[in-house]
Amino acid sequence: MSKKIQAIRGMNDLLPEQSPLWQYFEHQVEALMQRYGYREIRTPILEQTALFARSIGEVTDIVEKEMYTFEDRNGDSLTLRPEGTAACVRAAMEHGLLHNQTQRLWYQGPMFRHERPQKGRYRQFHQVGVETFGMEGPDIDAEVILLSARLWKQLGLYEHVTLELNSLGSLEARQAYRDTLVAYFEQHRDVLDEDSLRRLSSNPLRILDSKNADMAEMLAGAPQLLDHLDAESREHFEQLTSRLDAAGIAYRINPRLVRGLDYYSRTVFEWTTTALGSQGTVCAGGRYDGLVEQLGGKPIPAVGFAMGVERLILLLETLDLIPEDSQRGPDAYLLAMGERAEREALLLGETLRDALPTLSLQLHCGGGGFKSQIKKADRSGARVALILGEDEVDQGTVGVKFLREEREQETLARNDISKALADLLA
Ligand code: ATP
Ligand code: MG
Repeated sequence: MSKKIQAIRGMNDLLPEQSPLWQYFEHQVEALMQRYGYREIRTPILEQTALFARSIGEVTDIVEKEMYTFEDRNGDSLTLRPEGTAACVRAAMEHGLLHNQTQRLWYQGPMFRHERPQKGRYRQFHQVGVETFGMEGPDIDAEVILLSARLWKQLGLYEHVTLELNSLGSLEARQAYRDTLVAYFEQHRDVLDEDSLRRLSSNPLRILDSKNADMAEMLAGAPQLLDHLDAESREHFEQLTSRLDAAGIAYRINPRLVRGLDYYSRTVFEWTTTALGSQGTVCAGGRYDGLVEQLGGKPIPAVGFAMGVERLILLLETLDLIPEDSQRGPDAYLLAMGERAEREALLLGETLRDALPTLSLQLHCGGGGFKSQIKKADRSGARVALILGEDEVDQGTVGVKFLREEREQETLARNDISKALADLLA
């Protein structure tokens, strides 16, 4: 026998038992976006490699070592999208969505990063994100945070996540701070690990993000970005926090929160949880006022975030917050014994679905006796089995057997069935 082909490492199948929970999550998201006036955008999964190199930044983890990049048949370098913002900006620019107008967009879909697979970290994973354009005030920063907070509340997660906030200031302030920081790190070169030494020249802010315990003390003493903010960014940050205060959204200012990507400025935030081990960030975002210009457009302010769907699903499972009816079977399972009954059952199923638009009815196909069919009906999770045998066909009736309650089996005239099911569903 030849060896069976398996899925690619770090890329998951979503099995039928799990999809109801995903659908529940997706419905919540869709409804929420609708309520805040955000419109969905869908972009291709493949983009030109240059888009990500230019937007995310050459010296980030993603671009340095995580992208799935390959040559197309005609020699173009293409990349499976590692995140959603760059493609969203590209599409918005390409179709004139940013011209003299504001935009509130959202997206969802798979992203690809060649990382070491572990719980909460995969090579194909899914994000839901929002991107807003054309609004520079702190009100929109506050809105995207309130929107995400509302999702946690709807899902029952709000008590289990923490909002961490920081400001990266303007590009100029950050460059000045960068010099101060590099000077500090130079003084403590002996404590820096290999990764940090590499980042010292390329991306020194990222060193602040390090989880290396040996560096913790040195990092605690490092100069803080919040002390080096330009006046306007400071004002923006204060306006944001006062809006969150007014809305009753708690946060923790984390002066070491810098985010991995190059394009952020001013507000950055993360929603984190302690319930998932080290993969604790479930949503991350901030302001990226420089990105549109960086990609060749006119400067346009922008704020957004992306959440990791797998981590949120894991969190719902871990905290046992799965809604009961998300695993529900069909309302009715229709049995048919004998060829005449089979033919009639197919039509009866259609008639019932016509009459009852919300009815979920599963038809038994593939023959077999009463016993094996009723077993399948039970296993399907259906509330009732509808029984159509030779006798029922002759008499124009249907048997109704209640699978989840103590109740006598009934025989109903064919015409009465849809009314009876409607009562049952009500
Ligand atoms: P991390 O620090 O966990 O690597 P990140 O900073 O690389 O996250 P972002 O690029 O900000 O993550 O992506 C936003 C969110 O997408 C993350 O907060 C996380 O929930 C999720 N995410 C990122 N990478 C992965 C992955 N490889 N597998 C599953 N989820 C991921
Ligand atoms: Mg990462």
